[in-house]
Amino acid sequence: RNVSGFSFSAAAGPLPDEVAADVAAACRAGRGSVLSLPFTSPAFRALQEETEACLRRLLAIPDRFRVLFLAGGASAQFALLPLNLLGTARQASYVDGGHWSRRAIAEARRYAEVSIAVQASGRIPDVGEWRVDPRAAYCHVTSNETADGLQFRELPVLPVPLVADMTSDLLMRPLDFARLSLVYAGAQKTIGTPGLTLVIVDERLLGRARPETPRVMDYAAQAAADSRLCTPPVFPIFVAHRMLHWIEARGGVAVMAEAARRRSDAVYAALAEGAGTYVMPVDRASRSHVNPCFRLADEAQTALCLQAAEAAGLHDLRGHPDVGGVRVSLYNGVADAAVDALVAFLRAFARRHG
Ligand code: PMP
Repeated sequence: RNVSGFSFSAAAGPLPDEVAADVAAACRAGRGSVLSLPFTSPAFRALQEETEACLRRLLAIPDRFRVLFLAGGASAQFALLPLNLLGTARQASYVDGGHWSRRAIAEARRYAEVSIAVQASGRIPDVGEWRVDPRAAYCHVTSNETADGLQFRELPVLPVPLVADMTSDLLMRPLDFARLSLVYAGAQKTIGTPGLTLVIVDERLLGRARPETPRVMDYAAQAAADSRLCTPPVFPIFVAHRMLHWIEARGGVAVMAEAARRRSDAVYAALAEGAGTYVMPVDRASRSHVNPCFRLADEAQTALCLQAAEAAGLHDLRGHPDVGGVRVSLYNGVADAAVDALVAFLRAFARRHG
């Protein structure tokens, strides 16, 4: 495993050094170790309450929304959304923005009649072009397409409840809950470590689960039990607690959004300077502030670029297997020094190989 240099992995975000040190200390602490903290203890309840309170402050979550601390990853939600939200409807509307949208759509089709509201391939069409089925129980959007490097910067006002997979940009942008009915995210990229999935849901959507929905996966049942219907993912909640407070101490999600914009701008500027070497698959206005993606002339150039990056201590830049090319991930925990090193590398590589 890479122990020196910097990781730009899309699959997991690095923890800032001070958060990692704090977590490591809490793991070592003998009988009081967070690794064996019982979920039934008052200490865990306090931890969960503080985590939720910090999340609510950071994202200005209205009181009518419930925060669920679930296991199973974002992919489990692909099935749990239709199971929990369809109620008496059969239709659900999905935006197809790329790889992760299509994974969500494929799973939803097992439970619902899915219609595609709009397809965004390399460019996000204006909301006027979206065709949301008025019978749909909800419309689903993947706010940041992690594999494709495309981001819905502005979420639309829709006539049906809007559900957003924010696995790769929750806590990297302010949210407007007047437009949103449900937000979910796996914690491993922007919130902490794998094992926790956050679901933030308008309580008006609760109570519609299909009867065969497993109880521990029924949003209403978990909301009623404060997410403790079964053992919640205690350790990732602890890491999220530390990470959320780290974000708050730095000024909150507006500051994180500004950093993401500044850092991705620096990467995109270096890529534009090397336009003879780098090819941009996503239209400028739709480019992600989180996962800039680019291509090179061919497979051989891509391999050369990835190899040279590794040699320079810049790791985990290979694009998603279904998409190819190169992908940079700039989650909250990535250090500015990592971004500076990458930008210098992209400039030098284009000069040498352009
Ligand atoms: N949605 C998005 C947008 C993602 O980026 C990912 C992971 N890369 C997932 C869902 C799947 O997450 P998990 O592995 O936690 O199921």
